[in-house]
Amino acid sequence: NRYVTIKSHVDGAPQESDFELKATPLALSLDPGSNEVIVKNLYVSIDPYQINRMKSYSSSQKNSDFAVGIIPGEAIDTYGVGKVVASGNPEFDKGDIVAGLLNWGEYTVIKASGMLNKLNHMGFPLSYHVGILGFSGLTAYAGFFEVCKPKKGDKVFVSAASGSVGNLVGQFAKLFGCYVVGCAGSKEKVALLKEKLGFDDAFNYREETDLKSTLKRYFPNGIDIYFDNVGGEMQEAVIDNMNINGKVAVCGVISEYTDNEKRAAPRMIDVVYKRIKIQGFLAGDYLNNFADFLSTTCDHLRTGKIQPLEDISDGVESAPSAFISLFRGQNIGKKIVKIAEE
Ligand code: NDP
Repeated sequence: NRYVTIKSHVDGAPQESDFELKATPLALSLDPGSNEVIVKNLYVSIDPYQINRMKSYSSSQKNSDFAVGIIPGEAIDTYGVGKVVASGNPEFDKGDIVAGLLNWGEYTVIKASGMLNKLNHMGFPLSYHVGILGFSGLTAYAGFFEVCKPKKGDKVFVSAASGSVGNLVGQFAKLFGCYVVGCAGSKEKVALLKEKLGFDDAFNYREETDLKSTLKRYFPNGIDIYFDNVGGEMQEAVIDNMNINGKVAVCGVISEYTDNEKRAAPRMIDVVYKRIKIQGFLAGDYLNNFADFLSTTCDHLRTGKIQPLEDISDGVESAPSAFISLFRGQNIGKKIVKIAEE
């Protein structure tokens, strides 16, 4: 069983040398009644927040960290889809397709019940259930509809807009009847947003020197909703351009994950005078919305109203470079590693 781990805690931007591929022998059989399940991993999710789990924290910081730290040497857990190859648990049979907490490896041995569910793929590719029909999709859906609480015609700005969550926020917002502008880090991504995903406009933030005036150009009448995936200077520039009663959903702050000194410092007096609501959220708080999200998104996929955007790497050994690519802006859409064929 080959799996990827970190050699030691990661500080700053992740590099290939931070990771190693390890192997341990694994017998693909279990005693009935042991309650364990062995899953052959098929597709696993690659997510930016994992970098925060790879850092070494002082004990005071640890309390504010929502996810448990990754221990160097141990397999890195993540959401994924796989196939049961052995089961000592009466709830699962060999051959079942399942989704749950798997790892960056070829197999996952699952000991606790509740970490795994049988997956009804509903005729969609299994990879969709790791991204657009999984947590990325729920993040975009709940973050936009429940946290931003949009009105038709709202002017919406999305950062990291060609990424897994961002592209879906833009697509949901367009379908709902908002005016949507996204930013991303390359010409190719900007073209994709405008030409394939239906964004009203998009720009390459790397080509802009003064983000406040850039946003003024794209939103001459101000921004009503900001779906923030990046934090940093962009958040500061957005607050400057926000309308009265504007809303900021802070989904993530990727520009701050690899730079411990960096903090968005928006002008708080703007927040006061404009009565701006800034709300952080976690997709996991919206599991009650999952059924609604899933049926809506499946309908949109079937009717072609939403385009899936996936970026799939092959093989367990590609997990480190897949992960690193997120911080270099090299992914387009949901980053997934395909570990094996079904
Ligand atoms: P993405 O697919 O969006 O990949 C990350 C993207 O972020 C890159 O492609 C890059 O695109 C952009 N980026 C990387 N570094 C920087 C930087 N320094 N400054 C600005 N942009 C940068 O990842 P996800 O869609 O999975 O995640 C997007 C955000 O949502 C992250 O912050 C993540 O932590 C958060 N998240 C939060 C969840 C929640 O429950 N709150 C759940 C899932 C994700 P570009 O070309 O635009 O630079």
